[in-house]
Amino acid sequence: MTIPTLYPDAIRGSHFYGDRYEGDLMTPNVLALHTTEGTDIVSYSNGAEAPNLTAKPNMKTKKGFTVYQHFLLNRSARALVNAPGGVETNTCNVVQLELIGTCDPAHKKTWGKLKADVDYIYWPDAPEWAYDALAELIAWMHLNLGIPLSGPDEWLPYPTSYGATKARMTFTEWNAFKGICGHEHAPENYHGDPGDIPFAGILAKAKAIVAKILGKGGSGGGTSTKPKPKPTPPAFPGRDKFGPGKTNKYVKQLGDRVVAKGYGRFYRVGPSESWGNADRNAVRAFQLDHAELRGDADGLPGPATWKLLFS
Ligand SMILES: [Zn+2]
Repeated sequence: MTIPTLYPDAIRGSHFYGDRYEGDLMTPNVLALHTTEGTDIVSYSNGAEAPNLTAKPNMKTKKGFTVYQHFLLNRSARALVNAPGGVETNTCNVVQLELIGTCDPAHKKTWGKLKADVDYIYWPDAPEWAYDALAELIAWMHLNLGIPLSGPDEWLPYPTSYGATKARMTFTEWNAFKGICGHEHAPENYHGDPGDIPFAGILAKAKAIVAKILGKGGSGGGTSTKPKPKPTPPAFPGRDKFGPGKTNKYVKQLGDRVVAKGYGRFYRVGPSESWGNADRNAVRAFQLDHAELRGDADGLPGPATWKLLFS
C-alpha cells in the first residue's frame, strides 16, 4: 500500500533530519512511544538519535499537539538502541514517536506547579485533552499507515520499567510484533519510558475516533484489528472538472481525499467545491511523493492520480 510519508501539519524545517540520516525504507507496522523527559523540543544530537515524530502537548492548538517531523514515515528512525548482532530495533518497521513530557513520578510535582497551559505533561496521569490528542494521532497512524490498534497489556511504572523487566519483549516477540508499544517494551533497550500510561483507555479513544471516521456506530467487539476491505475508487470524473475557475462536487471530493492522504497542510481552510491554489499545491505534493506520478506533477488530477488517491 502507498502510505503518506508526512504527518499532516507537522513542522519540519530545521527539525527534519532525513537529508542527513536517510534511514532504511520500511513499511511501518509498529508505533513505539517515548517520553522525552524534557519540556521542549530538542535537537536529538542533531538528528543522530531522533524519532520520526515529536509531539509537544499544547492545549491551545486544535489537535492538542504541535507535531515535529524528523524523518519520513516510511524511513526508520534512530531513537532506539540498536545493538550490533541483535535484532534490528530501529529498522523493524517502527514509527517512533517522542511525547514531550515525563514518565518519572519524581518530576510530576515540580513540573506540575508550572502554568496551566502546559507544554509538558506527566504522561501516566495526564489531562484528558492530552490523551485525546494522543488518541487522535494513533487513529491517524492506524488509518493511514495500517498500524494495528493493539499492544502489550503491561505498561510498568517508571522506574520499575527500566532495565530487563517482564514487560520487555524477547527478540522473537519483537520480530513478530505489530501494533503500539513503548520504549520500555523494546529489546536491547533499557529505557523505561513512557511508563504506566493508561494504554487501554487511550486505545479505546483511538478506536472510537476510527469508528467515527469510518462511519460505524461502534467497533463491535472493540478488539478487531482486521484491515477493512478496500473501497472501490469512484470513477474519474474527467480532467475538465479541475483547474482554475472550476466549481463542482468533484473538487471537494478531491480535496477531502488529499487531506485524508496527509496533505492537509496546504489548506488554510478546508477543501471546498471551488478550485484553489491549495488544491493544486496539495495534489502536486501528492504527485511528487509518488514515483509513478512524479513525471507529470502539474497539480491537476488525471485518472492515475485519482486512482492512487482513492486506493
Ligand atoms: Zn525512549
